Amino acid sequence: MRALLATFSLALLTGTALAAPIPVVASFSILGDMVKQVGGDRVSVTTIVGANADTHVYEPKPQDAVVLGTAKAFFVNGLGFEGWFDRLVEATGFKGEVVTASAGVATHTMDEDGEKITDPHAWQSLTNGKLYVANIAKGLCAVDAEGCPSYESNAAAYSAQLGALDAEVKAAIAAVPETERKVITTHDAFGYFAEAYGVTFMAPEGVSTESEASAADVARLIDQVKAASVKALFVENMSDPRLVEQIAAETGAKLGGALYSDALSEPGEGAATYLDMFRHNIGLLAPALEGK
Ligand SMILES: [Zn+2]
Repeated sequence: MRALLATFSLALLTGTALAAPIPVVASFSILGDMVKQVGGDRVSVTTIVGANADTHVYEPKPQDAVVLGTAKAFFVNGLGFEGWFDRLVEATGFKGEVVTASAGVATHTMDEDGEKITDPHAWQSLTNGKLYVANIAKGLCAVDAEGCPSYESNAAAYSAQLGALDAEVKAAIAAVPETERKVITTHDAFGYFAEAYGVTFMAPEGVSTESEASAADVARLIDQVKAASVKALFVENMSDPRLVEQIAAETGAKLGGALYSDALSEPGEGAATYLDMFRHNIGLLAPALEGK
């Protein structure tokens, strides 16, 4: 009881622990976790597109307008990832702070049916992840100046964790011969991972799951698997697995499991945070690339 009283009076003195958390919204689960890590107890985060769900093809729901109605800030990835963002903001008349987590990322484009398309999956590099964290802290400071020192200290500690994991991922990939570093996944979600860590990813679908895979793309991947130039085949947690399963069936290649690309797992499934998502992916990728 004495400890409880002490906590209570400390809270009165500092005015922090008893204040209601600041309501904010994040567009998808990976970003939602990052905002939670930086916001800590001062912030209550609602995520629009949840675990194992596909943000590319999401259709806003009436409930989204309800949560945006009270939110102080709306955190989005940007780079065209949330194709429904403009519609939702317009429909809800959201007047809070919009924070684009990918602001300042060195983007890259992909050639898709002769069109140059900006790849939105920037979080798949942990160096970019650190930039997201800095942008999130800045966004939280803009809506809660009093909490800013806390956001900045959370961001610094979290960034250090991302930096340490980045070094681990680089070391795990460096152990694999360069010629073996080829992976097939469902859609082009790993362009930034490829660039950051030196792995080649191929996919029947483009940077959005909205695009249709062409028969020629599927045939080309089947040829590459048959020529044994690609041994690592993965489905994704949030997209249709059937094309990659078809490629595996037609070639007799073994599937390496599911990579987490655009969404986290549910709690207890092993990839419920951004850090755990990376640990899960590298834990599957490194042995598969080595043909184990
Ligand atoms: Zn995607």
